[in-house]
Amino acid sequence: MKKFLFTLAVALLFSATAFCQTKVIAHRGYWDTTGSYENTISSIQNAGNLGIFGSELDVYITTDDVLVVHHDAAVQGHKIDESSYEKDLKDIILPNGEKLPTLESYLREGKKFPHLKVVVELKNHTRWVDQDRCVLAVVDLVRKLHMQNQVDYISFNMNMCKGLIQLEPSADVYYLNGETSPADLKTLGFAGLDYEQGVMAKHPEWIKEAHDLGLKVNVWTVNESEKIQWFIEQGVDFITTNNPVEAKKLVEKKR
Ligand code: MG
Repeated sequence: MKKFLFTLAVALLFSATAFCQTKVIAHRGYWDTTGSYENTISSIQNAGNLGIFGSELDVYITTDDVLVVHHDAAVQGHKIDESSYEKDLKDIILPNGEKLPTLESYLREGKKFPHLKVVVELKNHTRWVDQDRCVLAVVDLVRKLHMQNQVDYISFNMNMCKGLIQLEPSADVYYLNGETSPADLKTLGFAGLDYEQGVMAKHPEWIKEAHDLGLKVNVWTVNESEKIQWFIEQGVDFITTNNPVEAKKLVEKKR
């Protein structure tokens, strides 16, 4: 019996450690490697092959209802939320020679790596009607691909976050903008906070507050080894980084 209790205690300790383990998310995919570029199909393949927890991407909707993966509001002179995919964007080639991806092609690639969490950032759109159109289209697409369990959502835009929470209550939605306390995020139905590293350095108490409320903490964009190490020691749940190789190494060292 004693031996059984000891084994149980060890098992619980290990599961608690695993539960607290910081996880690595590649910011705009794992793109800082030969031949790749941010927010491309190769960047999500690289993240999947690296064996990290997740891969983040940015999305806009076009005037003809196509969801396009790109960070900046404009691509090669075309403002995405004022452009037609068919007329203006579909032939665009990115600096590494890959096509500008649609969200559908990107998610289909992510689906080939079922262990990889795909973190979809819904970008701010100038018009409210486009913000709502973007939220609806992203949720519809994720449902169509049966990827609800593989996708988390993030946004700086509170209107879009509220839309996501209302439309897909079981989804994990994280807020990016940094001004809202964990208690308020909990009330609004968020899964957690995903704040810039400077905000979290100013409010280290938010990590415990969030955890006590059952929320998770993500921090971006942490690239230097010492800072990655510091946030691992603070017990954040996720680190979003342009340097997933180093972050993975540091997380594994702590194990
Ligand atoms: Mg982003």
